[in-house]
Amino acid sequence: MHKAKNKADTICMKKLMVKMLCFFVIACAIFCGFSFQTQQTQAQEVVRNVPILMYHHVRENKKGNYVVTPQMFQQDIDYLKKHGFQPIFISQLIDFCEGKGDLPDKPVVLSFDDGHYNNMKYAFPILKKEKFKANLNVIGCFCEHSTSSGDIDNPANSYLTWSEIKSLHDSGIFEIGNHTYKMHTFSPRFGIAKLKNESVAEYKKALSADVMKLEKVLKEKCGLSTQVFAYPFGEYNADAEKILKQLGFKAFLTCNEGCNKAIKGDCKVLSTLKRINRTGLLNTREFFEKHNIS
Ligand SMILES: [Zn+2]
Repeated sequence: MHKAKNKADTICMKKLMVKMLCFFVIACAIFCGFSFQTQQTQAQEVVRNVPILMYHHVRENKKGNYVVTPQMFQQDIDYLKKHGFQPIFISQLIDFCEGKGDLPDKPVVLSFDDGHYNNMKYAFPILKKEKFKANLNVIGCFCEHSTSSGDIDNPANSYLTWSEIKSLHDSGIFEIGNHTYKMHTFSPRFGIAKLKNESVAEYKKALSADVMKLEKVLKEKCGLSTQVFAYPFGEYNADAEKILKQLGFKAFLTCNEGCNKAIKGDCKVLSTLKRINRTGLLNTREFFEKHNIS
């Protein structure tokens, strides 16, 4: 009797151990499967670091926080080439973020703000020679002024005319962005900032009218449309982002300093793209080393 009970206990024990072993094996399988899947997801995520350099004026014998010389611009391109960077348009960045296109391993965007005539006179020939490309964000009323007044060829303060913008776009070297028609001012609002007593509806009306006025001229006079919006003075807000996205813009340039981490198939980064102001107060090596671009 005693022996039989012992035997029954041993069988029970064995069954329990088999059950525990099964449980352990299943748990291991689930855990391994999960971590394999995680590794796969990580392996599939395609990421690129995208520095966007922000230029304004390019002028001979002149250096300032927003002014570089043609020689400095040439040296910047030499540096970027030497370090394996390849220039991209912001439209390529948009495609990448939308999961539609690829980017080189070390992409870089050169962006020019405001639409200065000196960009065409000095930067364009260098870009062409070096097979580089750039983003150019124009201000409508300044370009209209140059076009209608004939103030067209002063490297210090002329802006690009509509026909010049068209030829730069047609060259395939510059991709044009919208920098507002007439909101690049400090007053009555600071850039595109919402006025104190303005309702969202009123703000939407004012911002849309301004931005679409430039789009209309770019379409009619230059045969192009843009999907890049450069915030004047880097001033932005959530209402503006929503309004501009409804108008069809997909990428937004700020003056927040830094590099952009672009993930293929993820558009989040496009809403507030950071840039690095290319001050003319540092030489090429000092500038790139300061911002760890190498
Ligand atoms: Zn500007």
